[in-house]
Amino acid sequence: MINQIISLSKKLIEVPSVQENKKALKKVLEVAKKELKEFTIEEFEKNSVPSLLVYHGKTRPKRFKIILNAHLDVVPGPDRMFKPVVKKNRLYGRGAYDMKTAAAIELLVFKEMAQKVPYPLALQIVTDEEVGGFNGTKYQIEKGVRAGFVIAGEPTRFGVNNKAKGILWVKIKTSGKSAHGAYVWQGTNAILIMNQVLSKLIKLFPIPKKNAWKTTVNVARIETTNQTFNKIPDNCTALLDIRYRPEDKKTLLEKIKKVLPENTTMEVVSFEPPQFTDKENPYVLILRDSVKRIGGKLAPVVAKHGSSDIRHFNQVGCDGVTFGPWGLGSHTDNEWVAIRSLSYYYLMLKDFLKSLE
Ligand SMILES: [Zn+2]
Repeated sequence: MINQIISLSKKLIEVPSVQENKKALKKVLEVAKKELKEFTIEEFEKNSVPSLLVYHGKTRPKRFKIILNAHLDVVPGPDRMFKPVVKKNRLYGRGAYDMKTAAAIELLVFKEMAQKVPYPLALQIVTDEEVGGFNGTKYQIEKGVRAGFVIAGEPTRFGVNNKAKGILWVKIKTSGKSAHGAYVWQGTNAILIMNQVLSKLIKLFPIPKKNAWKTTVNVARIETTNQTFNKIPDNCTALLDIRYRPEDKKTLLEKIKKVLPENTTMEVVSFEPPQFTDKENPYVLILRDSVKRIGGKLAPVVAKHGSSDIRHFNQVGCDGVTFGPWGLGSHTDNEWVAIRSLSYYYLMLKDFLKSLE
């Protein structure tokens, strides 16, 4: 089986399926489709982003019990990374860890199990996770695709990732009163007002000294239309990138609004939901059992700072986690997956699907 896994992974890695290369997105799906001829393949496309939904049987059920979700798009990298190499028990290449190898395994497990399990199982393959998943996973959900539980094969080193932070992007605009720079008492400086606002925000959400599960604020940009020295600026805009914990979602906007003085506006540019599935969810417990049975150790439940396509499912009440093999260096120029972990990953997924019968 390991040879099959590596051979298919290599074929997927060889296609430079970065977001800008729409031809390659189609091509990488062709590689997958070739392996799945005995199944129903529904093809989706939105804004030139293709995706697949694969299952056994003629018609799509209202709700799958399980969806194995995989993304075959990758972040850009140097050309050499699209020539996969096996070296010292590792498979190197762009997407080796995030997440073409896991995708290959999900595909092979699906192929083996889809006709055997007594419940509806689907394989969902998308090509835009790295840019938000709006035209892939989210689009399929808009078209009615649902599941009791979704597993996305993102890099987790056998951890079961049940929650991830949401993203809030806001523009805050303060306004003051302009005057000549020599007569500062005659004006109100909008930059100084902004300075106070930002201090209060950082007090509310202090910058952690190290990795911590906390809501954070990054001041990404500050600007004013004023271009000269001798004028008091009457406007200031700050761009904030806020990464929030699921548990902070309800109170977040209120908290920020409270520190804004009069004549200050806040524009929400993007408010992406967090990812959250209860760690006591029965599927989570069964998956962790499978990891223990096959791997010998109990899988830790882990939180992630960056989100995944699972959040789109959470939005419509479907639970899910990310769960993937062992490796390192996703999004870097030195990306690899540990070959020994691949057979384990295969067996764990298979054991999980069997345990649900
Ligand atoms: Zn990924």
